[in-house]
Amino acid sequence: MSEPAGKETYIVGVDLGGTKILAGLFDSSLECIGTAKVSTKAQRGLDTVLSRIERCVRDAVDEADLSLKQVRGVGIGAPGAVDFSSGTVLFAPNMDGWKDVPLKKELEKRLELPVFVENDGNISVLGVHVVELKGKPRHVIGIFVGTGIGGGLIMSGELFSGFNHTAGEIGHMIIDVNGPKCGCGSRGCFEAVASRTAIFQRIKEGIKDGEKTLLTEMLGSDLEDLRSGDLRKAIRRGDKFVGKVIEQVAEYIGIGVANLVNVLGPEVVVLGGGVMEALADEMTAVILKTAKEHAMPGTLKNVDILVSKLGDSAGITGAAVLARREAKEK
Ligand SMILES: [Zn+2]
Repeated sequence: MSEPAGKETYIVGVDLGGTKILAGLFDSSLECIGTAKVSTKAQRGLDTVLSRIERCVRDAVDEADLSLKQVRGVGIGAPGAVDFSSGTVLFAPNMDGWKDVPLKKELEKRLELPVFVENDGNISVLGVHVVELKGKPRHVIGIFVGTGIGGGLIMSGELFSGFNHTAGEIGHMIIDVNGPKCGCGSRGCFEAVASRTAIFQRIKEGIKDGEKTLLTEMLGSDLEDLRSGDLRKAIRRGDKFVGKVIEQVAEYIGIGVANLVNVLGPEVVVLGGGVMEALADEMTAVILKTAKEHAMPGTLKNVDILVSKLGDSAGITGAAVLARREAKEK
C-alpha cells in the first residue's frame, strides 16, 4: 500500500468451495488487503451461488475501502473440471452436481470486470508456488484437503493441465478400489476416503455403530456443527476413536503422496486445505512415515513434503496470481 491509491491496480481472488466462498482483494504486489467470506449454499441453485460470489467480491473490495472500478480483474478457483479458455465449470460434484456452468460469462455480466476461472487445486498450487515458494522449485505437487481433495501440478515451472485441461485431479486418484462411492461416480477415490466429507461420514457411521467419542459431548448427538477444529480438540482431549479415524486418513494421504511421487518425481509436495490446517500436528508424522513405506526406493530423496503456511488463503492467493497475469496480458 506504499503507492498512492490512484496509481495502484488491484485484483480480486476468489476461492469457490462446496461449503464456503472466500474472496480477497490484493494489490499488485500480491499483498492481501481485504477479505470476505460467505457460505456457498450450492443446494439453493446456480443463481444463488452467483449472487453470493458477487456479494463476496464486493464485500472484499469494500473491506479495503476501495471501489470495484479500481479492480483490473477477478480470478476464481472452482471445484471440479474447468475449461479455462471459456471459463466454464464442466463438472463439479461438490457444487450440487454443476454441469457446464458458464461461470466466467455470468460473473463478467454481474461484475463488469474480466473474470478468469481455473480449477481450485490448480489455483491453490499456483498460489503456493508463486507466493510461498517464490517460484523457485521446478516441479511441485499440491494436495489440498477440504470438502473434497483438490490437487494441482507445477511441472517445469508451469501449471500442468494436460491434453484436455483436466490433469491434476488428485482427489480422484483411486486409493481403494473397494472403497466408498465418490461424487464423481467412481469408487474409493482419494477424496472419498480422505476428505473432510469422508472423515465426517466415517465418524457419524462410527457413532451409529456404538463408538464412544467426546464429539457428541461437545456438539450433541447429531454433530450438526462439526468442524475440522473440533476433531483436533477431541484428539487433544484423548478421544481414541477420532484419533484412529484421523490416523487412517493420514495413512491414505501418505499413500497418495507415494503414488504421486513415484509417477511425477516432484521437488516439493505441498499439503494444504482446511483439514490439513486444522490437523497438521496430528497427521504430518503419519503422512511422512506412510509415504516412505510406499514410495519406490530413491524417489523421495531430497524431496520436501511440507504443510503450506498459506492455509486457507492458498486459493484466493492463487486466484489473484492468475488474475494479475491474465489481466496484464489483456
Ligand atoms: Zn472420484
